Amino acid sequence: MRILVLGGTTEASRLAKALATRSDLEATLSLAGRTEAPAAQPIPTRIGGFGGVEGLAAHLRDHAIDVLVDATHPFAAQISRNAAEAARLTGTPIVAFVRPAWSREPGDRWIEVADLDAAARAIGTAPRRVLLTTGRLGLASFEVAPQHHYLIRTIDHPGDLPGLPDHALLLERGPFDLAAERALMIVERVEVVVTKNSGGSATYPKIVAARELGLPVIVVQPPTRPDVAQVHDVDAVFAFIEAVRRG
Ligand code: NAP
Repeated sequence: MRILVLGGTTEASRLAKALATRSDLEATLSLAGRTEAPAAQPIPTRIGGFGGVEGLAAHLRDHAIDVLVDATHPFAAQISRNAAEAARLTGTPIVAFVRPAWSREPGDRWIEVADLDAAARAIGTAPRRVLLTTGRLGLASFEVAPQHHYLIRTIDHPGDLPGLPDHALLLERGPFDLAAERALMIVERVEVVVTKNSGGSATYPKIVAARELGLPVIVVQPPTRPDVAQVHDVDAVFAFIEAVRRG
């Protein structure tokens, strides 16, 4: 069977590793091409957009894809919508391999907001020391609040940020470790953390560290997902593939 995995996440890499051990499945991983040096993968990888719904539908047809796995990031809303629609147009079975969103635990001081613009406003007017972990794209949203000191953590260099005059960069890729997250927040005297509610375990330690230190966390909620079958682990993806195989 031919499997196309839409990736760019820890989950997709984990799935790729499992798929590499299956000689009965011919799997390809698709990446958008956003990171400069994506992690090495054990299955064939293609990089770059498909050209919207029509392009993805053509790819599914041309490569006779039997199962489409949407293992993209919960905030990558466009590709998930395109995947659902291209699967519908071509009759390709689709399953979304998604991480459950994080939920508030006792001790969490969360301020939940709908998007990055609202996150920037929620930091407040008085200058604060902010650990900003929402990714390289969308940093312009914070230019409305240039009075804060931003410690910006991204995988790739975000380029010049003249609209955020008081910032420092941390170029790092998860997973992150609780002790290191706690130490970072203490050493950098972080007063507020800004994050997307990305779910999963790789970046959750910052949530735990903030809880332990009593820090407020501004949490951007994920966009609504298209209505397709959802699973939360690799085994369930294989179960879906088996169900398609059996017809
Ligand atoms: P997006 O807004 O949903 O997608 C924009 C366009 O990028 C899509 O229409 C598609 O172009 C292309 N694209 C996205 N994912 C692709 C994939 N896996 N393979 C091929 N083309 C893809 O996506 P985004 O938010 O920019 O995220 C881009 C990638 O980074 C995703 O793969 C996602 O898993 C990963 N990522 C995103 C975030 C985040 O916070 N958004 C965080 C970590 C990782 P065409 O229309 O031309 O096909």
